[in-house]
Amino acid sequence: MKEEKKLCSIVVPCYNEQDAVPIYYGEMLKIFEMIPELDFEFVFIDDGSADGTLKIIKQLRDEDERVHYVSFSRNFGKEAGIYAGLEHARGDYVVIMDVDLQDPPELICGMYHTIKEEGYDCVATRRVNRKGEPPIRSFFARMFYKMINKISKTEIVDGARDYRFMTRQMADSIVSMHEYNRFSKGIFGWVGFKTKWIEYENIERVAGETKWSFWKLFNYSLEGIAAFSTVPLSIASFFGLLFCIVAFVGTIFISLRALIFGDPVSGWPSMVCIIMFLGGIQLLCIGIIGMYLSKTYLECKNRPIYISKEEA
Ligand code: UDP
Ligand code: MG
Repeated sequence: MKEEKKLCSIVVPCYNEQDAVPIYYGEMLKIFEMIPELDFEFVFIDDGSADGTLKIIKQLRDEDERVHYVSFSRNFGKEAGIYAGLEHARGDYVVIMDVDLQDPPELICGMYHTIKEEGYDCVATRRVNRKGEPPIRSFFARMFYKMINKISKTEIVDGARDYRFMTRQMADSIVSMHEYNRFSKGIFGWVGFKTKWIEYENIERVAGETKWSFWKLFNYSLEGIAAFSTVPLSIASFFGLLFCIVAFVGTIFISLRALIFGDPVSGWPSMVCIIMFLGGIQLLCIGIIGMYLSKTYLECKNRPIYISKEEA
């Protein structure tokens, strides 16, 4: 008996990508022809686009029944898009990729064979350079990855893309993580499974422009830290202990000095500096606690990760 063809779902988050969607679709059809042993379906996520993205996806849907979509009621962000896509994907394999062709579609053939023949659960990609990106952004990105890998037990790979080919089992485990503050790069690492990394050079997007500003990235990195490490919370304890020791030694020193040399009143400028410094440290620690508290607050409200307005 002939083995039934396996289905591969392609999850594509799109936000204001009306120019990129048709080009992407055309490229993907070529790939589908190269892998005849798989059936394919698209799961486009229209992440509350303000342009004609949804219209174009619907046109594709009319022509091609392999095209499915979920349209959000507003912009929920790429993380929510990935989650919705994984939830709606029905395939035995699931691929997550960007619509701007920064994730080279031709890699899919190799990824599929790796999973099928080498027994991996997931093939993930990372870019080896950040060509075409502002140098200051690359610098901060590198710093971020260095730091988070020091303070988090979950491995978060520098330059990792969200472009991944994974098995049904892994997709299901990602969907089983319902957290509201989603940091996919950490979630992929957290669920584990045997992952093979492949590398490629950074490619500039084919149409439209990047949705990430510096501040968006900065906030995203805080999200990552709060979601996958509790080390910053220990900073308060660390400083507390440090200053206790300093205060103890200082008290002994000053007492002895007063006993030996008398007690002239002086040194108030240095006193002011010390008080201000300690006040600053205290506020910093409260701020860190506040960051975790706010995440906890959002998490316990248990809001849905996205709201779908229409889907097909
Ligand atoms: N995206 C999304 N929602 C957002 C922002 C981005 O679904 O709020 C999608 C976007 O359409 C693209 C992918 O996420 O398919 C990656 O976005 P972008 O190319 O702007 O990021 P970069 O490649 O610069 O990291
Ligand atoms: Mg891009």
